Amino acid sequence: MTETAPKIRLYVDAALSAGAAVPLLPDQAHYLFAVMRRARGDSIALFNGRDGEWRAEIAEAGKRRGTLVVQQQTGPQVSLPDLWLLCAPIRKARMDVLVEKAVELGVARLQPVLTRRSQGERLRPEKLRAHMVEAAEQCGGTVVPELAEAQPLAQVLAAWPKARRLLFCDETRDAPTLAGTDAPPPAALLIGPEGGFDPDEAAALRAHPACRPVSLGPRILRAETAAIAAITLWQALQGDWQ
Ligand code: SAH
Repeated sequence: MTETAPKIRLYVDAALSAGAAVPLLPDQAHYLFAVMRRARGDSIALFNGRDGEWRAEIAEAGKRRGTLVVQQQTGPQVSLPDLWLLCAPIRKARMDVLVEKAVELGVARLQPVLTRRSQGERLRPEKLRAHMVEAAEQCGGTVVPELAEAQPLAQVLAAWPKARRLLFCDETRDAPTLAGTDAPPPAALLIGPEGGFDPDEAAALRAHPACRPVSLGPRILRAETAAIAAITLWQALQGDWQ
């Protein structure tokens, strides 16, 4: 394989240590051998969300199967600030953008929240999860956020861990700006659907002890833009960009 070939990174569940043999899933084998034309002796990068990034060599290559042997660690395990992103489902194409950017920016957990004005066809968790894995593989990340099961807003609030500050991105009121809000981890950001929260939902949020309404500025943003802006603002405030 020429050295200029693009670096391939795969997310695996297996523990990663020198000499470990890692079996490939059928789709991974197809991607590696049929699509990316890699073969025995070639190397790729592996990460599992726990052990950092490791170089692994292809030991066996089959049509829908294969085995990698882990060689040495090539990157540290990145730890992310303890930030959750809660978002109401929006139309699929935009939800894919929102999820991909949340993975690239680095959130620990993604929690879809069902609200009265949620858009988009039913969420497909396995598709969403695959999209998150692909985003982490492509952006050089070593963590794939946890994907929580979609739950109605009321249920999420009823079970809310009281030590976690919930920053409710509210475009309707002159709430304090997120840029001026110090909310150290553990924290969560909540982004509403294209149609926003309905008045009862907004009232329940404002009444919740762990919840703080915050503004992302004077312009109303699309949900996926609001998610990107909110995560970036929060991380900058926490000094995550050092
Ligand atoms: N209800 C709005 C659109 C909602 S935008 C309307 O129809 O005019 C989708 C979500 O993005 C909102 O529910 C909110 O969570 C977030 N959002 C967008 N702009 C925002 C802002 N300037 N401040 C805080 N949150 C914002």
